[in-house]
Amino acid sequence: MTLRFSVLASGSTGNAFYIETEQEKILVDAGLSGKRLDQGFKEIGVNPKELTKILVTHEHSDHIKGLGIIARKYNLPIYANEKTWKAMEGYLGKLSIDQKFHFGMEEARKFGDLDIESFGVSHDAADPMFYSFRHDGKKVSLVTDLGYVSERIKKTVEDADAYIFESNHDVSMLRMGRYPWNIKRRILGDSGHVSNEDCALALTDIITDRTKRIYLAHLSQDNNMKDLARMSVSNVLTEHGYEVGRRLELHDTDPKQPTALYVV
Ligand SMILES: [Zn+2]
Ligand SMILES: [Zn+2]
Repeated sequence: MTLRFSVLASGSTGNAFYIETEQEKILVDAGLSGKRLDQGFKEIGVNPKELTKILVTHEHSDHIKGLGIIARKYNLPIYANEKTWKAMEGYLGKLSIDQKFHFGMEEARKFGDLDIESFGVSHDAADPMFYSFRHDGKKVSLVTDLGYVSERIKKTVEDADAYIFESNHDVSMLRMGRYPWNIKRRILGDSGHVSNEDCALALTDIITDRTKRIYLAHLSQDNNMKDLARMSVSNVLTEHGYEVGRRLELHDTDPKQPTALYVV
């Protein structure tokens, strides 16, 4: 009875997340080249030929770059909502009709022994959505690429054993940095990305005693640093009485290095 996952890659250059149970081996997003995805699977000791399906969150290239390639190579069904399909289809190359499936917005589905619930996020894509996974009493929530964390999202993702949660930028690094103002405004806006501080504050509302591990994700290479992200989030959680480093572990993620398979 195991639920295991790895963040294969996370960041603006490419995102891919892997989660498995006894019956399902699922890739969420394929924002890396086919070669890099294969390399990532090799590093975590998973045979990509055993994948059962791919879920897609939204059509930004850092989430779908290798999608067509990997789906063809392993003949995998792809699940996405209707608007995302429309927005990304032209970039995927040729797929057969039996590879295209719908996973609706705010829908709960069961694949084998894994329950998956989608939820919408505020982000500048066609109809972006992320997922919570449940298996055998365990829950994992994947939450990145969002401008802010709404109460509705908090309800869906709360009380999970593990989180992969966006901690995109440090607000002062972004403000002081070299990005043009329109890009800064996009990142800081309601359809952009969540800062270290907003990540931490959202976490204080949703984590519970059962939460053991948090992976900080989608870290900006220009406007954040791993140590800074961990420290900022850790400070806020500690102020709120959480024992970070003891009962609750904070980890970072990397655009090039997969996290070791974690048994939830
Ligand atoms: Zn992204
Ligand atoms: Zn995005």
